[in-house]
Amino acid sequence: MHNMRKQMSKTFVVFFDFDNTITTIDVIDDMLERFSGDGRWKELEERWRREEIGSRECLKGQVEGIRIAKENLDNYLSTIKIDPYFKKLLKFLRSRNIPALIVSDNFEYIIKKILKRNGISDVDIYSNRLSVCDGRLDPAFPFTNEECGDCANCKKERVVSGKKDGALAVYIGDGRSDLCAAKESDIVFAKDYLKETLEKEKKPCVPIGGLKDVYDYFIKSF
Ligand SMILES: [Mg+2]
Repeated sequence: MHNMRKQMSKTFVVFFDFDNTITTIDVIDDMLERFSGDGRWKELEERWRREEIGSRECLKGQVEGIRIAKENLDNYLSTIKIDPYFKKLLKFLRSRNIPALIVSDNFEYIIKKILKRNGISDVDIYSNRLSVCDGRLDPAFPFTNEECGDCANCKKERVVSGKKDGALAVYIGDGRSDLCAAKESDIVFAKDYLKETLEKEKKPCVPIGGLKDVYDYFIKSF
């Protein structure tokens, strides 16, 4: 882990997880609770917890079990709240010419809707894809790492390629799908599962409660 204050001559690239990092809840989990056609999503969740299936297989089965009309999905997405400091962070990073990317196991359609509703449209997103048709959701996974296959979207690959030109990777996240990417990053801001796991494995991270903590850290460091 690098000390940001000592690294100011270096360039940075900042990666944000989406669910429960930018949004105030885990949107997919909430959608499964609300809109699943039956209880099969819970069985898949259990099999994933027991590590019998990877998260792509779990997520694919769960999302395919959702029944919702496009209009109702859009209405629901308009109710999702984001951390108010995300916008401030983007503005700050832009003012310093630091690229910011969202890396998420959620879906582009959902992420874009939520961001647009909150006045954000120009941020790079690496996520899964979704088409909505006849009350069903059809997921696609363009960024799976076929050699690993655990996560639906391999966030680690994105961090590794972001660092190729010598930039330091800053990672902000909370969950299991953030773990590999966080371990490749130079500075990690973590909460919940990610924080607990990194601390257990004695990997350095900056514990956060929300994006305000990241914002304050950046303001002090730059
Ligand atoms: Mg998350």
